[in-house]
Amino acid sequence: MNADIISPPPQDTDAPSTHSAPAVGDRVLIFDTTMRDGEQSPGASMTLEEKIQIGRLLDEMGVDIIEAGFPIASEGDFEAVSEVARVVENASVCGLARANFKDIDRCWEAVRHAKQPRIHTFIGTSPLHREYQLSMNKEQVLAKIDETVRHARAWAEDVQGSPMDATRTEPDYLVETVQTAVNAGAATINIPDTVGYAVPGESARIIAMLRERIDGADRITFSTHCHDDLGMAVANSLAAVEAGARQIECTINGLGERAGNAALEEVAMALKVRGDHYELGSNIETPLLMRASRLVSSVTGFPVQFNKAIVGKNAFAHESGIHQDGMLKHAGTFEIMRPEDVGLQDSNLVMGKHSGRHAFREKLKELGFDLGDNALNDAFVRFKALADRKKEVFDDDIIALVDDAATSAANDRVKLKFLRVICGTEAPQSADLLLEIDGAEHQRTATGDGPVDAVFNAIKELFPHRGRLKLYQVSAVTAGTDAQAEVSVRLEEDGKIVTGQAADTDTIVASGRAYVNALNKLLVRRQKSAPDRPSDSQAP
Ligand code: MN
Repeated sequence: MNADIISPPPQDTDAPSTHSAPAVGDRVLIFDTTMRDGEQSPGASMTLEEKIQIGRLLDEMGVDIIEAGFPIASEGDFEAVSEVARVVENASVCGLARANFKDIDRCWEAVRHAKQPRIHTFIGTSPLHREYQLSMNKEQVLAKIDETVRHARAWAEDVQGSPMDATRTEPDYLVETVQTAVNAGAATINIPDTVGYAVPGESARIIAMLRERIDGADRITFSTHCHDDLGMAVANSLAAVEAGARQIECTINGLGERAGNAALEEVAMALKVRGDHYELGSNIETPLLMRASRLVSSVTGFPVQFNKAIVGKNAFAHESGIHQDGMLKHAGTFEIMRPEDVGLQDSNLVMGKHSGRHAFREKLKELGFDLGDNALNDAFVRFKALADRKKEVFDDDIIALVDDAATSAANDRVKLKFLRVICGTEAPQSADLLLEIDGAEHQRTATGDGPVDAVFNAIKELFPHRGRLKLYQVSAVTAGTDAQAEVSVRLEEDGKIVTGQAADTDTIVASGRAYVNALNKLLVRRQKSAPDRPSDSQAP
């Protein structure tokens, strides 16, 4: 990316009078920030390829605005926002910028590749943020908002402003900050509950107050950005909508700083199932929710809690006899939404070793995967291998297999070629491992405290590195002792955090491959010098 191929913004822009907020009628715009706020959760960093995959899926799902990252934060963030901007076809693509020209210019450089680019600029407005984070008085903050929103508008038609920590900002001063941003040309005003402090009535009152007091309120879109520290992110977001907000910032699986953000799947289904109450829809293709949830969970290694609304394993499970009896008589007795509305298939036992390529392709389509020929061939080979070892291949097995294929790239420097372990009651447990490193094969036998430890030790001896193990996690994809194990391994090196995954019916093989996957990601990250986040880039 070359900064000098874009011309500088015009110097004396009058307050731009035309606002370019997306037309809003009877629907709520869904603004996804999984790749920005979501990625700020410790350990949830995503690779470029993963972000492109998520970006495409969000676009297909009907998300209106995709916040793809914080371009000034690192080279990796910049590249990811640029690439997501290039591949997304329908949604607006947004980047985050602090209220300074450098951030905004860098943000524009990345988002300008989008069909509909948006710059999202923010500044802390609460007394605590003004005094301790910015060391600025009220007037200085207003001047900053005016100057930076105008600067952003000189680049982009579509600019969004956020007074960070809005819910703890003095109401009269909040009105001043919002009016300043609106006058400077921001078409969307986002009200962040940065610290997850608001309650629903308050969230609604703030939006109602702004709609009443802001000059030109009818020409702009009010947005809400809520955190779940008190478990009220979704409730606060919907309360804001009832008061007139028409954009909700949210994330897949509620990923995000601390307790996370409002969960996109919960917001979308609440608007859909309770359309009678809200009389507002969203553009979300809800049958893709399950797929998005699995993708984000697999990329980050963050499991979805079993009783999570909408996408949890148990969200549609009926255990009690009375409930099961009712369900058999009429699903409506105990079910307010249909599993297929969120992308859950009720078919379960599906494929076996005699299933052919055509049936496999059809199955993938049914599960929402559209693979190219090469990827399909790879997945089919692995499916046959799995079907040889496992009598019944379930939908979840196939999803794990496709996800697994997606996370291991062809240009990986390190590949696991052979593994045998000795384990049991007699110590020491040992692992005999063959790795292909940059095309050459290396073999080593190592011991450890258990077979997994032995495998990881063998990898470290064959490919010495400073990455420290931060997480090792195993989950069973389906029921049964022949179930595939899905393993996540998180490594940290010099502040860079990566998560690798792999699935296999052999838990130890899955563990070794997940570690190697994490290692390959770490090697890619090493080439990008900047750390994950600048320390002063606390964002809304
Ligand atoms: Mn946030």
